Amino acid sequence: MNILLVGAGLSGAVIGRRLAEAGHTITIIDGRDHIGGNCHTERDTETGVMVHVYGPHIFHTDDEEVWDYVNSYTTFMPYKNRVKTTSEGQVFSLPINLHTINQYYGKTMRPDEARDFIAGIGDSSVQEPQTFEEQAQKFVGPDLYKAFFEGYTIKQWGCSPTELPASILKRLPVRFNYDDNYFFHRFQGMPENGYTPMIEAILDHPSITVHLETWFDATSAADYDHVFYSGPLDGYFGYELGRLGYRTLDFEKFTYQGDYQGCAVMNYGDRDVPYTRITEHKHFSPWEEHEGSVCYKEFSRSCEPEDIPYYPIRQVKEKAQLSEYVALAEKTAGVTFVGRLGTYRYLDMDVTIREAMDTAAMFLKKGKDTPAFVKSPL
Ligand code: FAD
Ligand code: UDP
Repeated sequence: MNILLVGAGLSGAVIGRRLAEAGHTITIIDGRDHIGGNCHTERDTETGVMVHVYGPHIFHTDDEEVWDYVNSYTTFMPYKNRVKTTSEGQVFSLPINLHTINQYYGKTMRPDEARDFIAGIGDSSVQEPQTFEEQAQKFVGPDLYKAFFEGYTIKQWGCSPTELPASILKRLPVRFNYDDNYFFHRFQGMPENGYTPMIEAILDHPSITVHLETWFDATSAADYDHVFYSGPLDGYFGYELGRLGYRTLDFEKFTYQGDYQGCAVMNYGDRDVPYTRITEHKHFSPWEEHEGSVCYKEFSRSCEPEDIPYYPIRQVKEKAQLSEYVALAEKTAGVTFVGRLGTYRYLDMDVTIREAMDTAAMFLKKGKDTPAFVKSPL
């Protein structure tokens, strides 16, 4: 069959490759002038540093098949994400661990003591935390919540943590040992030459043709037997039910001679610092040596029509709107909506790849009867 994939990010590349290997003819279009979607990396011409153009991307997964898949297309180097945060004039280690707790309270507690101490200051009146704030108050108490989460979260999401779901914070563990690895997955790493060559290798198949700087036009869909769409769900329907809310990011780039901050990611918990974090890209490739350095100051704000949508907001209003779009999509024949924008969800790279593999498998079984969503966005 002749298949159109909209978007040359991970979703489009993985689905395209699987279907090309099964004998289908694949056309992939992307409106940008490069492949890789938001995982795109490129070397800075001035310093030679590998830059994560759309923000820091660290690969972490428990899914062995996904790990084997990415390793079959590129070499992954060992990489552990060790994030620091600056709050009230001091630098602390994240995620909150025994070092953070002891440093914050000026104590030398052992694991059990710290566990009891935090349990004592956590808000025990909260049974089942519903909001971000309740989750934080219950598990770390008011001081650590204010120092590390409240200000950062207001800057990141532009609203009070009382309006956000607890699930956002559940992504971050609290540890009662000195493990400061941001992630707890079995497999973690960084592609030696960045993500774009990996995605290029996935796309390197004689039955795949990629057209860049080509935005999707609904009339062209008629030329294909099926479309997989990884662009924004609301955009497919010309935003006819309004725009789904996103946060966008502004990156203020600056260069530095030497080592600017000594780590890849420094968060800023204080409300009066306008950015959320500074990323120093050369620390993502510790096996390389560069005298110069490239840093991004990251600012979060509401996404306007001309901006790049980054984080889906998914609060009550957006979820109601989303269900209307889902109903519309389910009535639309010949299109399957995939990926972070097509399903309006925050998806890590490993989950994106897993879902792309499952979507391709579903298409190989059901062909044109593949539903609008292989994974429900609701
Ligand atoms: P995308 O990468 O967004 O690709 C979609 C592509 O479709 C884009 O190239 C776009 O140009 C194109 N497109 C859109 N609309 C159209 C149209 N109408 N016509 C033509 N082309 C179109 N994951 C991790 O695992 N680890 C991390 O550390 C991590 N960090 C992240 C940091 C940030 C700031 C963000 C926002 C995400 C992060 N992620 C991370 C998630 C990761 O970016 C996603 O998993 C991944 O990009 C999803 O791939 P995708 O193909 O679904 O979407
Ligand atoms: N967060 C915070 N302070 C930090 C880091 C994270 O308050 O120093 C909150 C913030 O609301 C963020 C959420 O925890 O959206 C999840 O953190 P994660 O690092 O997973 O953020 P993401 O990768 O989504 O930017």
